[in-house]
Amino acid sequence: MKILLLGKDGQVGWELQRSLAVLGELLALNSRSQDFCGDLADLDGIAATVRAWQPDVIVNAAAYTAVDKAQSEPDKAFLINADAVAVLAKAAAETGALLVHYSTDYVFPGNGDRPWREEDAIGPLNVYGQSKLAGEQAIQAAGCRYLILRTCWVYASRGKNFARTMLRLATERDSLGVIDDQFGAPTGAELIADVTAHAVVAIHRAPELAGIYHLAAAGETTWCRYARFVLEQAIQAGAQLNVQPASVTALTTESYPTPARRPLNSRLDTHKLEQAFGFKLPHWQLGVARMLTELNERS
Ligand code: NDP
Repeated sequence: MKILLLGKDGQVGWELQRSLAVLGELLALNSRSQDFCGDLADLDGIAATVRAWQPDVIVNAAAYTAVDKAQSEPDKAFLINADAVAVLAKAAAETGALLVHYSTDYVFPGNGDRPWREEDAIGPLNVYGQSKLAGEQAIQAAGCRYLILRTCWVYASRGKNFARTMLRLATERDSLGVIDDQFGAPTGAELIADVTAHAVVAIHRAPELAGIYHLAAAGETTWCRYARFVLEQAIQAGAQLNVQPASVTALTTESYPTPARRPLNSRLDTHKLEQAFGFKLPHWQLGVARMLTELNERS
């Protein structure tokens, strides 16, 4: 199997380099790659890459993910998250490749408390969500075989992440306030990458499994409870913190205005994915605890 991976150095892209490597010949690119164009802002360039490499599977982990900045840069967000995706989908339709793409719970309006199902009515609250929805729609309109995985609250042990920020703030400050009315499940880039690799193999054997699925770790929490869990784990591992888990203050979304409106309900119903592929998605605390152990051992 020949695989083209775009966005190789992002949270998910990095883990995909590992999980896809066993499936065949992998060409992994970022926006600065030289031999082949991996810059999604260069629409002709990425179309030429697909024509030249002729992959069986295109995995697009590249995206414009700056949610607040997208409000003031809608053209750039749409270029990367929709126009470039349309080019990949057209190229996949022409070459017969399977297109794997990631989307978000931000395509939904974020109301209520029921986990979103794949067929629920969409209604993004911000430019990022609108641009990701446009990407999904471009794929579905192109007539290619696709696997779209909508996920939420992605973390990884590399780079900037929420857990690491909380740990830093809990040593620098005496108090910490975190949003407590947005609900979702922290979902590890490792989990997303592993699910992707298994799903690609399954679709190779049973093409009718292609389609759109929700992928998130099991269970649910809020950012505030997530922060408390991170601090608890760190204290158990021997960290000295100024802020104790129980004293993290719960904030409302209303009291913490940001340029982009965010959904209160980011819960995703993952039954379709679990049933179709026979997966059992692990509880979010398992992955976060593992990531914290890794961070702790590195420091
Ligand atoms: P990251 O922001 O970690 O990675 C995105 C990658 O895209 C970066 O490596 C970035 O590279 C790259 N990229 C940006 N612009 C371009 C471009 N013009 N050409 C090529 N590459 C580019 O995102 P995640 O790994 O967290 O997200 C993976 C997918 O999951 C995305 O589709 C995202 O929308 C989706 N998702 C993410 C969530 C989250 O909480 N993070 C939640 C729900 C869905 P560089 O840094 O060099 O610009």
